[in-house]
Amino acid sequence: MESTTAYSELLRRVRESALLESCAGLLGWDERTYMPQRGSAHRAEQMALLARLGHEMLTAPVLGELLATVEASPLGKDAESDTAANVREIRRQYDRAVKLSNELVEELARVTTRAQQAWQEARQADDFAAFQPWLEKVVALLRQKAQAIGYTSVPYDALLDEYEPGATTAEITQVFAALRADLVPLVSAIAASKMRPRRELLERDYPLEQQERFGREAATAIGFDFESGRLDVTTHPFCSGLGPGDCRITTRYNVHHFNEAFFGILHEAGHGIYEQGLPAEHFGAPLGTAASLGIHESQSRLWENQVGRSRPFWEHFFPRAQRAFPSALGDVALDDFLFAINDVRPSFIRVEADEATYNMHIILRFELEQALVSGDLQPADVPGAWNEKFKQFFGLTPPSAAKGCLQDIHWSMGGIGYFPTYTLGNLYAAQFMERARQDLGNLDGEFRAGRFGGLKGWLNAKIHRSGQRHRAGALCRRVTDRPLSHRPFMTYLREKFGPLYGI
Ligand code: ZN
Repeated sequence: MESTTAYSELLRRVRESALLESCAGLLGWDERTYMPQRGSAHRAEQMALLARLGHEMLTAPVLGELLATVEASPLGKDAESDTAANVREIRRQYDRAVKLSNELVEELARVTTRAQQAWQEARQADDFAAFQPWLEKVVALLRQKAQAIGYTSVPYDALLDEYEPGATTAEITQVFAALRADLVPLVSAIAASKMRPRRELLERDYPLEQQERFGREAATAIGFDFESGRLDVTTHPFCSGLGPGDCRITTRYNVHHFNEAFFGILHEAGHGIYEQGLPAEHFGAPLGTAASLGIHESQSRLWENQVGRSRPFWEHFFPRAQRAFPSALGDVALDDFLFAINDVRPSFIRVEADEATYNMHIILRFELEQALVSGDLQPADVPGAWNEKFKQFFGLTPPSAAKGCLQDIHWSMGGIGYFPTYTLGNLYAAQFMERARQDLGNLDGEFRAGRFGGLKGWLNAKIHRSGQRHRAGALCRRVTDRPLSHRPFMTYLREKFGPLYGI
């Protein structure tokens, strides 16, 4: 077959499998928003069918032949071309998929479905022993998976690569160690400060309808396109980019807590703006796909934290918030509100953690996961190891497994290797933002005036439109002229929290 024909056929096939995947995505969105409770068994059948068809499409021998034809041709020899980027990433995806036997894929799906159920019950009952056998099964299967995929230095690399293509455990260890060394003294200084925000401001009455209206107003202002997207309610918020013109974000409302829905909406809208900014003409191909989970998370955290928890943002939005919530915020000063949404204190639960301590939660998980995958840590010893590390990192001992090693769903889902992408997201966000400020001049002045289009356009051009043209690390070097570093993030934290806490 001629190589150009082979390339078009290759793209046709990956697009088709992306279409199938987006059908599953829509069913998944429906399952978590509107599906009636009794529909769950039938939905599981639908999802299993789509997953099997998808795996078959991605591992079809003809796909390997098409790839080989294109790779042997002059097509894609120019490493900077569209073709080269598409072929590189399709190859990566194909190689990973064919190395996993159907038995292993099916067994992982079966075990993790039941493990999630077991985890939910175990967390509710605060009973690690009930989850332990499932954790043992999941870890054993993931160790098998890592062996099947292969790695050059440590098996954790093989799992990490699923979420952060091209990243290695060694690189991340280095960046996280530098981050930790700088973060610990900052967090201790904040803990020792006498200055404390009035958190109760955020726990007053925030009527649901106003929260929704205000959240939509902010999401629209930062650039989420509601003509190509929706906002709905769910228990565990997420963003699902279904394809060109259709991106679904979700949130949950708490009438007695302002932060949950509002910052959740900004966060998911940040993910959504990335999805909406991917080039539609490349839908289904790597060039139309997000670079990595770390880069995805950088986009959500940039809007949620770097922008959404900043003073200039609230100089614009606070008067509007006061009009939306007159009884809660009518008598509150902007400074008090700003301090309250930037409260830093060690806590047990990752998802409730502030911007500074959050990363310590991730480093803890990153270290334990590596030990689990290497076999240095047995699942039975996880609670002890968790508490010991927690004490070392935070000076606190979790009062229960539910507030300790049982708090997250990830391990039950087989998601070992996923956690580091959250902190990578924070670091990438700070580094991108530092560069955007250099490129765009007076961004704070723009925010004060309620204008966010300059920043959104910059992100569209520098990050969103390139899809998977570059791997995350290379993208970071291209956008910021430097490799990923913890420094911009630390500078950002010091500049923000220094004045607030008088340190
Ligand atoms: Zn996120």
